[in-house]
Amino acid sequence: MVLLGTKGGPAIRPGSSMPTSNLLCLEGEQIVVDCGLGVSRGLVDQGMQLRDLSLIFITHLHSDHYLELGPLLHTAWTAGLKTRVDVYGPAGVDAYWQAFLASMRADIDLRIEDEGRPDLRDLVAIHVMDAGHVMVRNGVAVSALRTEHPPLVDTFALSFKTDGVHVVFSGDTAPLPALEDFARGADLLIHEAMLKSALPALTARVGNGSEKLMQHLLRSHTSAHDVAQTATRAGATRLALSHLIPSDDPSYGPQDWHDAVAGHYDGALIVGHDGLRIDL
Ligand SMILES: [Zn+2]
Ligand SMILES: [Zn+2]
Repeated sequence: MVLLGTKGGPAIRPGSSMPTSNLLCLEGEQIVVDCGLGVSRGLVDQGMQLRDLSLIFITHLHSDHYLELGPLLHTAWTAGLKTRVDVYGPAGVDAYWQAFLASMRADIDLRIEDEGRPDLRDLVAIHVMDAGHVMVRNGVAVSALRTEHPPLVDTFALSFKTDGVHVVFSGDTAPLPALEDFARGADLLIHEAMLKSALPALTARVGNGSEKLMQHLLRSHTSAHDVAQTATRAGATRLALSHLIPSDDPSYGPQDWHDAVAGHYDGALIVGHDGLRIDL
């Protein structure tokens, strides 16, 4: 498991980490979970050949989770992709892909004609997913749970289960009691996290002066303290914090995340950073 991008939110600034993307390797499958900005670079930095791309999941349609989906698929194609890629995501991901293809039509048609490439449009299968069982491949069973992430409705946590390993991604969510059952006994729970004490400084720095950003953060995301309680109630063996808010405030570092969780979760805590590998 590699946390490729661990920043919550789409903006990047000098010195900041990258928005959300992950690589999960299970049973020989290389599974990409979310495609925020930087996912292509993150994957090749881990040694993955993009032509081997075959399975992608998008948890929801906020740009920090899918802005680079089209560019990743296109770059994989120019890197020699010849086999099908299955993309699972919420309703609307199909329209995004069609619009991306339309925006790049001149280049795609040119490369087919000029370089003899197969048609990218035939290589990608988009699957609109809903809560419940999503798919099984090579002994990896995938299911989805609708999360609480207003104003979006089609937002999902994802569970990946083999005979031996259970990995759960919270996706973006406010505290969600249903996640406790969904992640029951997970070997690894990767959960979004927010440091409540840092929010006033954050909204003053990047907000537009209204209370709207603060209201969005509080009703749509989960504080590290609440994440710890979810992980404890779920009985998760290990907890990795990702989609960190804040991620680029030098006043806050790993110790602050450990402090926020201390006393509420006594499993192994991993504070995410870009490129962090977690053995399963
Ligand atoms: Zn997000
Ligand atoms: Zn979101």
